[in-house]
Amino acid sequence: MTSASPVLVRMHPADNVAIVGNEGGLPAGTLLPEPATGLALRERVPQAHKVALVDIPEGCAVTRYGVTIGHALRDLPAGSWVHERVLRMPPARGLEGLPMGPEATANPPQVEPLEGYTFQGYRNPDGSVGTRNLLAITTTVQCVAGVLEVAVERIRRELLPRYPNVDGVVALEHAYGCGVAIDAPEAVIPIRTVRHLARNPNFGGEVMVVSLGCEKLQPERLLPPGSLPLRVLNADNGTAGDPARPGAGTPAPYSHVCLQDAQHVGFASMISAILATADQHLQRLNARERETVPASELVVGVQCGGSDAFSGVTANPAVGVCADLLVRAGATVMFSETTEVRDAVETLTARCASAEVAQKMVAEMAWYDAYLQRGQVDRSANTTPGNKAGGLSNIVEKAMGSVIKSGSMPISAVLSPGERATTRGLIYAATPASDFICGTLQLASGMNVHVFTTGRGTPYGLAECPVVKVATRTELAQRWHDLMDLNAGAVADGQCSVEDMGWQLFHLLLEVASGRRTWAEQHGLHNQLVLFNPAPVT
Ligand code: CA
Repeated sequence: MTSASPVLVRMHPADNVAIVGNEGGLPAGTLLPEPATGLALRERVPQAHKVALVDIPEGCAVTRYGVTIGHALRDLPAGSWVHERVLRMPPARGLEGLPMGPEATANPPQVEPLEGYTFQGYRNPDGSVGTRNLLAITTTVQCVAGVLEVAVERIRRELLPRYPNVDGVVALEHAYGCGVAIDAPEAVIPIRTVRHLARNPNFGGEVMVVSLGCEKLQPERLLPPGSLPLRVLNADNGTAGDPARPGAGTPAPYSHVCLQDAQHVGFASMISAILATADQHLQRLNARERETVPASELVVGVQCGGSDAFSGVTANPAVGVCADLLVRAGATVMFSETTEVRDAVETLTARCASAEVAQKMVAEMAWYDAYLQRGQVDRSANTTPGNKAGGLSNIVEKAMGSVIKSGSMPISAVLSPGERATTRGLIYAATPASDFICGTLQLASGMNVHVFTTGRGTPYGLAECPVVKVATRTELAQRWHDLMDLNAGAVADGQCSVEDMGWQLFHLLLEVASGRRTWAEQHGLHNQLVLFNPAPVT
């Protein structure tokens, strides 16, 4: 925002605070515009921070987005700076007596179909559609990571040039697999995450596993019969065989290299086995071509990271508009980040498509409440120093700006962490808000395009799926001109409506899904996969 005249942004007519829009903030004595015309600022207020529009006596509610984000710890005269040190956070709403599904809503929104939008994608044998054509190599344990990295580097150098239709090779490395209480009830989360990651639509249905041999997460446990569509592999790559020739080996839906196999004498043998196995997968992947598919094949995961007070004003509302368009086009949209939607639980359960979906949402929230309590914290542990410097006083304010990403459509399903999406429409995929854990879990749920909003700025990227980064402020978009894919700050500058920005994002997603490379892809930026393991380690 470069406007010289003072700008205030109020989100809801009932709000008794508004945020300063001007880059660099506003000095004491500034005469404020609408909605506090003529009021003078009592002190300097930084950009994106809140100003009291009226006198707020000690103990009274401070309201933003039409909800109470805190209570004043002292008298806050009109024109004062309202920051986290003068606010007491309200307790989380209990999970009893919530409105459960459409019966609770007077006028559930009508979903008007949006037809005629397509992209160029890769159709997979299981019916899903990829936006990239990647060879992914699944690992059962961290022990193999060093060997696999050497092998992957050689695959890139020596094999990929022969397969121009393949976009890349990624090692699905993680810290799980051994040294963990693998029979603990909550171990189901990391295990199914690794299992479902292998089936991400961007990997073309090709599953290749590298294991060590002695680890707890044995390949049969990771990928039990029925967990993958059966596919006939060549018999010379370890465990796979041809079911048409009895005795030629056991049919397996994946290929497998085990480093402790007696056949491997030394390091070079392991590397050549991985390269030979990868070569078979690359041949099949290389034979694939993009084809025109409907926009309904998009599976878009949305999240935010490095948020500021503009997140809920520009980028996240535009993502919400885009989410509505995607759902109307028949696509799948996943929103997540439990601690950042917990304070909006009442509106979310009311939006659920059925009472059963609402019950699963309540169960996920209750599980997370208990998980945090076990660690002797609560949802307030979410906010960061950067959030607060960016004007977000607490998790309630952050959550109200975050949940807007979900748009306004009915919630068709709720997924536990790492579950695969099996329905279309708007889905609540329960995950922590940690950028890497959320991204990893959304990949496991089947995401083929990722939307990531940021106000403070993060170079976040994933090797497994394109990440479209949306800046909340023009200043960030200009400073990080070759990292941000879309500038939603144009909304705050008055150059674009939230609706238009939502449409821009919708069109950009179709282009990226068709192969247009994001900034992170052009620079080769990506973060590591990080599993969510709430179970004990040993
Ligand atoms: Ca996040």
